Amino acid sequence: MKEIIVENYNPEWKNEYKKAKLFYERLFTGIDLEIVHVGSTSVEGLCAKPILDIDIIIGNNHERDIVIKLLKSVGYSHIGNMGIEGREAFEYSEENPNIRWMKHNLYVCMKGNDNLKNHLLLQKHLRNDKEAVEKYSLLKYELAKIYPNDIDSYVEGKTELITQFLKAEGMDTKVLHRIKSINKKDSEKDPSHSSEYAVPLHFRDKPATCWGVSFKKLKGCKMTKKIFWENPYLKSIETRIASVNGSNVTVEETIFFAFSGGQESDTGTIAGYPVIEAAKFGKEIKYTLPGDHNLKEGESITMKIDWERRYKLMRLHFAAELILELMYKKLKGSDKIGAHIAKDKARIDFRWNESIAPFLPEITSEVESIVQKNLEINSTFSDEINEKRFWEVVGFAKVPCGGTHLKRTGEVGKLKLKRKNIGKCKERIVIYLGSES
Ligand SMILES: [Zn+2]
Repeated sequence: MKEIIVENYNPEWKNEYKKAKLFYERLFTGIDLEIVHVGSTSVEGLCAKPILDIDIIIGNNHERDIVIKLLKSVGYSHIGNMGIEGREAFEYSEENPNIRWMKHNLYVCMKGNDNLKNHLLLQKHLRNDKEAVEKYSLLKYELAKIYPNDIDSYVEGKTELITQFLKAEGMDTKVLHRIKSINKKDSEKDPSHSSEYAVPLHFRDKPATCWGVSFKKLKGCKMTKKIFWENPYLKSIETRIASVNGSNVTVEETIFFAFSGGQESDTGTIAGYPVIEAAKFGKEIKYTLPGDHNLKEGESITMKIDWERRYKLMRLHFAAELILELMYKKLKGSDKIGAHIAKDKARIDFRWNESIAPFLPEITSEVESIVQKNLEINSTFSDEINEKRFWEVVGFAKVPCGGTHLKRTGEVGKLKLKRKNIGKCKERIVIYLGSES
């Protein structure tokens, strides 16, 4: 994979864009459209990956078709919408003699499209706020250092700050949620065409403090060590505070899981302070404590989790894993569309065009049989650098997941399953833990 490189802002980018614009204006003579320079290279002072982002904004499908045809006539290939409705992406060969300006991503966007709005709003925010540019630059620079080969984590790491900026511009929360899910790691998108902008090069080397996490400690990839993976049965540990920024802290080692893959965050305490929120930030986990905490960097602390709750989450999580696998085996072509693991129940949602009620007794008895056999569950890394993990029950299934898993299937215990119809072609299975366990 190509290394992510962030460069300081370069005034030449503006001139390169002007060359491109002139070319497109000639190509699209007579068509009512707008050509805009978007992305990080369009914001003065912002560090960026040296690739222009250019949007051609059109008003209807007819115009879109003409524009696509014209772009093809000068050597662009249309590669579809890459999973983003209303935005068509293009590629070109480096040998293309028509293209005499720097590397670029070219998109044809429908006017009013969410992705486009997102681009323009972010641009507006950054163009009007020098401090935001500084913050964003430092974050990109640090992320590129921490994840030089992991574009997914890089993009995900930026999402929180970007959504903060968009929120400040009054963007609708529904749209913000969509952006977050698009930029989420593990989604099946092509990262080079994520809804984000051009990526980051060199920025001045100073310790950065961005939106709540001091990055001083993160340098050299000293991420919090996730003990909840190697030993998901620990109820407390002694560790040290790695960084403090206002009410947010990071720790050297952690047993405190942060919401991921549908499994809720743990609840518990750090040095006796209740953790208000645990949030993943790339590979780091940020813990929010009450504002009056007086913890200092390097301080030794005890971290405790609500074990009773966690163990229920682990049992329900694994029950959901087993049921999901059985569903895939039974209902060929069914598609998981959601999952949530809470303390008292778990749910998994599928796309399936009829009631799954007739399958429930069979699924239930098969899960019970796997639980009764008390099989070993192995959980480990498939890719340690990028923190990709999987669980395996030999002879049954091997599934990628970064959650906390039981050691043996017997621990799942007694279950109760209920079927719910939650809309057209949408089926839900709700899982409850049996009362006797
Ligand atoms: Zn899992």
